[in-house]
Amino acid sequence: MNLNLTHKKLVDIVSGNAEMLPEQKIDIIYYDSRLINTSRNGVFFALNGRRNGHDFLQKAYDKGIRSFVVSQQVDLPNDAIIIAVDDTLRALQAVARNHRNHFSYPVLAITGSLGKTTIKEWLYFLLADEFNIIRSPKSFNSQIGVAISLLQMTDEHNFAIIEADISHPDEMEFIEDMVSPTLGIYTGVGHFYADNFESQKVHAAEHLKLFKHANITFALSEHKNELRKSKINADIVDFDSWKNVDFSQLSYSNNRVIALHVAEFLGIEKESLIKKASQLPVLSNRMEVFEGQDDNLIINDSYNIDVDALEQALSYQFSSDERKDKIVVLDLSFVEENRKQVILDVVNSYKPTQLFILENNKVPQELLDVKNSSILFKGSYRSRLKETVQLFKNRKHETWVEFDLKSVEHNISVFQNKLPEGTKTLVMVKASSYGTGDVNIPHFLQQLGIDYLGVAYTDEGTTLRENGITLPILIMNTEINAFDDIIRFRLEPSIFSIPQLEAFCNRLRQDNITDFPIHITVETGMNRLGFYPEDITELIEKLNSHNEIKVKTIYSHLADADNPDPAYSFQQIEKFKMMKSQFENELNDSSVLFHILNSEGTSKFGKIAAFDMVRLGIGVFGYTSTAEEDELLPSIKWKTTISQIKTIEAGETVGYSRTFKAEKSMQIATLRIGYADGFRRGLSNGVGAVFINGTSCPVVGNVCMDMTMVDVSNANCEPGDEVEIIGENITIKTFSNRLNTIPYEVMTSINKRVSRIYLK
Ligand SMILES: *Cc1c(COP(=O)(O)O)cnc(C)c1O
Repeated sequence: MNLNLTHKKLVDIVSGNAEMLPEQKIDIIYYDSRLINTSRNGVFFALNGRRNGHDFLQKAYDKGIRSFVVSQQVDLPNDAIIIAVDDTLRALQAVARNHRNHFSYPVLAITGSLGKTTIKEWLYFLLADEFNIIRSPKSFNSQIGVAISLLQMTDEHNFAIIEADISHPDEMEFIEDMVSPTLGIYTGVGHFYADNFESQKVHAAEHLKLFKHANITFALSEHKNELRKSKINADIVDFDSWKNVDFSQLSYSNNRVIALHVAEFLGIEKESLIKKASQLPVLSNRMEVFEGQDDNLIINDSYNIDVDALEQALSYQFSSDERKDKIVVLDLSFVEENRKQVILDVVNSYKPTQLFILENNKVPQELLDVKNSSILFKGSYRSRLKETVQLFKNRKHETWVEFDLKSVEHNISVFQNKLPEGTKTLVMVKASSYGTGDVNIPHFLQQLGIDYLGVAYTDEGTTLRENGITLPILIMNTEINAFDDIIRFRLEPSIFSIPQLEAFCNRLRQDNITDFPIHITVETGMNRLGFYPEDITELIEKLNSHNEIKVKTIYSHLADADNPDPAYSFQQIEKFKMMKSQFENELNDSSVLFHILNSEGTSKFGKIAAFDMVRLGIGVFGYTSTAEEDELLPSIKWKTTISQIKTIEAGETVGYSRTFKAEKSMQIATLRIGYADGFRRGLSNGVGAVFINGTSCPVVGNVCMDMTMVDVSNANCEPGDEVEIIGENITIKTFSNRLNTIPYEVMTSINKRVSRIYLK
C-alpha cells in the first residue's frame, strides 16, 4: 500500500474530527493489529467486524501506531492522534474510493453468488502476460475486503480485477461508489439467493447495482433479461466461438468460457487462449488431500460448508482425473434448514457417482466399502466429520507430518511487513525445503509471488526445475562438475573464488553464452564461503572484463543473528556496507542487488539492513527465537498412532536391553514411530514424551527403529488413537531442547518415509 496521504487530507476524506494534526504522511492503513509494521507510517482503523477493532487500539499503539480512526470514546496516551468518525467502515471505504480515483486504468468488477474467485484467478492467469494486474487477494469480497483490495492499486499496475459480494440489501451502493468499475462480470445468483433477500429477482437486482455505470458487463445468455431489466450494457458470452475447445474433461466450463471470452475481449489472441484453456489452474480451498485406504483419494474439506467453498472443493474434485468415481459425503448437521436444499443442488449439479449424507455421525457400510474413488468430505467446522475422515486414512502410513500453508503465507507476510517497500524476498528451500518435502512448498511459494528461491546444491535446483518451478533459483554451494546442469536448467550459481569464476566463464565461452546470471558471496564473519574484503579489487576487475556472466546479486550471511546481543551482526553489516560501496563505485553494472539477512536477521534488522532483498528460511515455518513477539505461526505438526496397549506388572521390563523396569503395574502403548523416522534414540527412557488425548506420556525403555513404547497409565486412550509428537502441546522448540539441538535439525531429520500432508 502506498497511499501518500497527509493527515489533513485523510480527515477531509473521512469527514472526521481531530485536533492538532501532524505533518507526517500516511502510507498504509491497518485494520488488523497483528499485521502492523512500524517502519511505515500507518493509521489504524478500528473496524467493527467479527471482533471490535476498538479492543485492539492499545495493542496497535504498543506496536508503534500513533494515528487512529475510531467511532467510540477511546483511552489512549496523549501522543495518539485520534480521528473521530461516525462509522469507521464507511470512512475506510471513503479512503478506498479516493485512492481508486487516482487511477485511470480499467477496473473490472466481478459479482454474483458463485464462481467469482475462480473467474478472477483464471482471468488473472490468462491476462498476466499482457497486463500488470492488481487483483483482490483470496476471496476479499466483503465491504472491508473490497476496500482493502482497492487500496493495493498503484501506478505500476495497468489493470484491476476486484471481486465483490453482498449479504444484505442496500450494501451494493457503497461498493459501487468505491469501485466505480469500468467493466463487469456477472455470474448470476441462480437459486442461491441469500436469506436476507426477498426473492431471487431482488437479490439479482441488488448485485447488478454494481454495474450501473460500467461501460460493459459480461454475462451468460441466461442472465440477459436480468441485465436488460437493470438497464446494464451487456456483452453476452458466446459459447459457440469456443466449441473447438474440448471442455468435456474439465469442470466448470461456464466459468472457463466467461474467463476466455473476457480475455479475448481484452485483446488476447484467440490461439493462445485456446492453448491455455486446458491449463487453467485448479483452485483449492482449505483442504487436505491424501491417499486413503483401498486406493481412494481423500479430499477432506470439513472446515466450512458455505456455498462458495463447497463449489471450489467440488471443482477441485471433478477437475482432477485421478479417480473416475467421484463420491461426495456431506454432513449437514449445523446447517440451517433453508440452506440444505441449496447445498444439495450445488452438489447434484456436478452429478457425483454417489452422494452420502451422514446423520448423527453414523457411517453407512456402503461408504466404508468404497474403493478406487475420490471421496470429498464436506461438513461444517462444528460437525464431527473430521473423526469420520480418520476411518479412511491409509493405515499403512500412520506416522505423518502436517504442514499448514496458511501459516506459511501468514509468516511470510509478517516478515514482508517489516521491510521497506520494494524489498525483494528470496526463500531458502534447501534440504527439501527444510525437510518439508521436495516440491509442494516451492510450488506454494511460486503461487504466492515470491521473487527468488535458494538452494544449497545444484541437484536440489534441478529437482525444482523438473517439477515445474520457473522462479529464479540461487545455488549457494556451486560445484565445478555441476556447470553443465547449471547451464541446462538455468540455475544461478554463487561464485566464491576467482578460480571458480574463471572455470565457469571458460565453460560458458564454449557455448558462446553471455550474460549468464551469477551471484557473488562475500565473507563478513561467518567464515564459510566467500570473498574476503582484500580480494574484492581483483574480483571486480575480473567481473568487469568477463561478458560471459552478469552479476545479479552480491550477498553475505550473518553468523550470530539469534544472539540477543546484536554487536557481531552490526559488525558484519558494517563490513558488508563497505564492500557494497566498493562494488558500487567500481563495478560497471549498477543493477546489482545486495542482501545479507536471514529470517532472524530480518526480524531484528529488517528496517536497517534489508538492502535490496532478504533470504528467509526457518522463519517461514514459524520458528525463530523471536517467533512469539513477531506473531509468527507454527506450521508443523508431527503425528503418529497407537498400535497396541499392554498392561505390565511390577518387575517386568520394556524394550531392548531391558533399560526400563516397572515398579508397579502400568499401561504401555506401542507407537508407530521410531528412530528411523527421526524420533531419535536419545529420547529413550523419559527424555522424550508424547501427548495422547491431552495427557503427556513419557517414553519408556529404548526407542526402537520403527516403534516406541510410552507410559499411558494416566491417559484415556485406545489403539488407533492419534499421538502428538510435535504440535500444540509439544512445540518444536521443546522437542529440540530435549535432544540438545535446534529446530532446523529436527525438521530436516524427519525421514522421507513419513508421509507429508499439506493443509491449504
Ligand atoms: C539457510 C540460509 C538462509 C536462511 O536461514 P534461516 O536462518 O533459516 O532463515 C539464508 N541465507 C543463507 C546463505 C543460508 O544458508
